[in-house]
Amino acid sequence: MKPAPKHAPMDQFATRDGQLLINQQPIRQLALRVGQTPFYAYDRNLIAERVTSLRSQLPQQVHIHYAIKSNPMPALVDFISHHVDGLDVASGKELITALDSSIPANHISFAGPAKSHKELQMALASGCTINLESETELERVIELSKQHQLPANVAVRVNPDFELKASGMKMGGGAQQFGIDAERVPDVIARIKTAQLNFMGLHIFTGSQNLKAEALINAHDNIFRLAQSLKEKSQIEFTRLNIGGGFGIPYFPGESPLDLAPVIDNLKQLLAQYQADFANTEIVLELGRYLVGEAGIYVCEVTDIKESRGEKFLIVNGGLNHHLSASGNFGQVIRKNYPTAIGNKMNATDHEVVNVVGPLCTPLDLLANKMSLPVAEIGDLVVIYQSGAYGYTASPKDFLSHGYPLEVLV
Ligand SMILES: *Cc1c(COP(=O)(O)O)cnc(C)c1O
Repeated sequence: MKPAPKHAPMDQFATRDGQLLINQQPIRQLALRVGQTPFYAYDRNLIAERVTSLRSQLPQQVHIHYAIKSNPMPALVDFISHHVDGLDVASGKELITALDSSIPANHISFAGPAKSHKELQMALASGCTINLESETELERVIELSKQHQLPANVAVRVNPDFELKASGMKMGGGAQQFGIDAERVPDVIARIKTAQLNFMGLHIFTGSQNLKAEALINAHDNIFRLAQSLKEKSQIEFTRLNIGGGFGIPYFPGESPLDLAPVIDNLKQLLAQYQADFANTEIVLELGRYLVGEAGIYVCEVTDIKESRGEKFLIVNGGLNHHLSASGNFGQVIRKNYPTAIGNKMNATDHEVVNVVGPLCTPLDLLANKMSLPVAEIGDLVVIYQSGAYGYTASPKDFLSHGYPLEVLV
């Protein structure tokens, strides 16, 4: 069987005596202390290092927000809240998680195209910033703010007149369910002014999972240009300009990490160029995946091994139901393997080509297709890397009723 293309080596986790270490804990011991497989483990040191390293490169004016959607585990959100400047939420439940953390409400923003009456009330009562996604939503906020006598902090999410090139998932430009078309924004800001809401600024999110520095540079150039022109048309001060995020991480063979240096140099240049307009404006980068994705692994256990017509199958106790993205069914056009290892056989020299499949009765339940892995035995621990974001909560855990994985912050 011809093996699938090889991934770049994953070196964020150390190893000792053939065992993968998650924040110093050997994976076998970690599995015992978790009490079950499968589980997700997130390494808090890796998360802290990632934020600290990014912050050390960014100019002071640029703030780092964490987008909770990528991994809303409460312990992780609380941990990261001590390292970032703000949190971005997209539902009432995420707002509650954010408010439980150490971040004050005025550094929390709430986006999302279908905020309910109840969620808008929660947002108003909390004092967070509501990123307006439509003109109907603006009218609802005006109404609720009057009704409850609560001040409203609002930002306008802009659907820009350009697109993020080479993004894994486009979320701005063209016709969109997200945000308010750029050409409507001056009227919307005028309405915010007459209704006497607190205008916090603009939110321009263009897409996710981008590994190309030039594409991000191009998006940032366009965002600053658009924000400046909207500011000029509206004659209003901005507290904050949220320029989105979209920083990607490498998942597949042939992908390399994002080269941040040119993106940051360009941001510095933009801050200088637009100093007259935005010197007193907080520039916000909202990031999910980039901050936590590489710090997490999914761990499942080999329960059976079989051969069928010349191919070898490692059957494991969790799959698509726990980790939809690794199975290739979360927005991938062509299925590719996530980087995978046998976590208790990191020094093995004998390799063979295998398929790693989950417990579900569907051929979609495939974690690794024709991958070269150490020769495995029943009871070995299969590790899927790059699983700290869009894993646990992005998976259909009730499908086939096999039970839930656990999550631990190590
Ligand atoms: C999903 C989302 C993010 C986070 O995207 P990542 O790719 O995880 O960084 C940030 N902002 C908004 C508005 C989002 O919808």
